[in-house]
Amino acid sequence: MTPEFDHIVVGGGSAGCAVAARLGEQPGARVLVIEAGPSDRDIRVRVPFGLVHLLRSDRRNWKRKTVPMAAAGGRAVSVPRGKMLGGSGSINSMVWFRGCRADFDAWNVPGWDSDTVWDAFDAVEARMSPARLPNPHPLSEAFGRSLAANDPNAPPTPERTSAGVFHCNMKDGARWSAADGFLRPSGAEVMTDAEVAHVTFDGARATGVVLRDGRALHARQGVVLSAGSIESPMILMRSGIGPGANLRAAGITVHVDAPGVGANLHDHPGFGLHFKGSGSGYGLTLGQLPMWALSPFQWLLTRSGRLSSNTVEAGAFYSVGDGDAPDIQTHFLPFLMGWQGRSIIWGAGYFADVCLCQPRSRGRLSIGRDPYAPLIDLNLFGDDHDLDMMVKGVARLRTLLADAEFGRRRAPEAFPGPSVTGDALREVIRTRAGTAYHPVGTVALGGPLDATGAVKGVQNLWVADASVMPRITSANTNAPSMMIGWQIGGHVATQATRKAA
Ligand SMILES: Cc1cc2nc3c(=O)[nH]c(=O)nc-3n(C[C@H](O)[C@H](O)[C@H](O)COP(=O)(O)OP(=O)(O)OC[C@H]3O[C@@H](n4cnc5c(N)ncnc54)[C@H](O)[C@@H]3O)c2cc1C
Repeated sequence: MTPEFDHIVVGGGSAGCAVAARLGEQPGARVLVIEAGPSDRDIRVRVPFGLVHLLRSDRRNWKRKTVPMAAAGGRAVSVPRGKMLGGSGSINSMVWFRGCRADFDAWNVPGWDSDTVWDAFDAVEARMSPARLPNPHPLSEAFGRSLAANDPNAPPTPERTSAGVFHCNMKDGARWSAADGFLRPSGAEVMTDAEVAHVTFDGARATGVVLRDGRALHARQGVVLSAGSIESPMILMRSGIGPGANLRAAGITVHVDAPGVGANLHDHPGFGLHFKGSGSGYGLTLGQLPMWALSPFQWLLTRSGRLSSNTVEAGAFYSVGDGDAPDIQTHFLPFLMGWQGRSIIWGAGYFADVCLCQPRSRGRLSIGRDPYAPLIDLNLFGDDHDLDMMVKGVARLRTLLADAEFGRRRAPEAFPGPSVTGDALREVIRTRAGTAYHPVGTVALGGPLDATGAVKGVQNLWVADASVMPRITSANTNAPSMMIGWQIGGHVATQATRKAA
């Protein structure tokens, strides 16, 4: 017999866990969360610095890549996505930002104005307890003071020019993901290592899902897709909901011709400066080897030391465009990182990047001959404006770093090097930039979705994750993804309660 639930949530990531928490509030409801990856019970998930290892894992990272992108020098760039309970929130840097109020007002979707979502963020933060990173490196503290008139204990904010040590979703020096804050207390049943192939329908009504191994599961009240910005549109397309011509070319029968599915793909472009010098930040040097050797014990006993670092410790928001509102975000990492294909190299140093808060380039995600291999075209720098802003951003970042009180820890710029400016800098950014790992927009509210997150043209099917953002928020996207799960989960629960009454 096909197992039956009230609701099925596909994807146990940042948003899916918040959806499960809302659905779990209904007395007696049977909620199933299906997750393609394993559980998050792994020491590398708990230890903040563990993300460096997780990014290399084939089992816990989908390791997607874009197609070669013409405006970015014909390159493919990597698109890491978490694959386990907690989703990308189990491999991320835990940096916590709501975004700007103006971000949500610009969505112009009923029920998603800044006042409403600010209340939802309050509810999310009551469970996630974001707080200042406990043991920042002195370089991060110094960078956090680089823009005057900012309260040193407040995080920087995209609302105004500001710098500071970041606030993070950690508890007792360990990662505290949406799986901890929402899923475990929810009472939902959880199935791991189970990848959803497609949604099943009875006419226009969604009735459940089929897994990639052929097993079917039934949902009396409906299905919520929370598989993230890359996989949720893929599940919709495999279910016959997407751009008709693309589906037909891929050999899929069209159920609903929805051109907006997969469209509007965008992310924050990012380009980093690397600084290398002895006696600077964290790195692999003979002098630092004893501290690295001691660091596991230090973390286990006192939750301090270099393993307690989330790597992305501090940052800033500032403007290089026409207005006063910040248009650039910088992440500061007190670590030497590789810039020639290897992530770990000998030496010590630090890293700071330039990310564009509101890129204009828009790409598309489509389905090809292999229905499990998304064709991800971010169209990075498809709009020249984005590259212009990045070049200005790097110039401003160099002055910020030059003014920061790094003292004896200051190191020279090793990549791309201080002499690389003007057209040469533009070319390096075009051919070396990546993204901040914040893809959004592929199943947008007001596009293929109505304002409650319901898929237009069918019943009992919702999408709730970062893919629903019509336009990206002006900072990191984890907290907004949880807020989205919380809000749409609430709408789904309300519909179920109304039906039961
Ligand atoms: C390396 C990295 C660092 C980042 N750092 C930060 C940061 O510091 N701060 C911040 O705010 N944001 C950060 N982000 C972004 C942030 O983590 C994401 O925006 C957020 O987690 C997206 O949430 P989501 O619910 O949309 O998707 P996810 O959290 O990715 O969840 C989707 C889940 O669905 C599962 N899934 C997918 N397909 C299927 C299927 N077919 N069947 C079943 N399950 C499926 C996945 O395995 C995954 O668990 C980072 C992202 C990455 C990758």
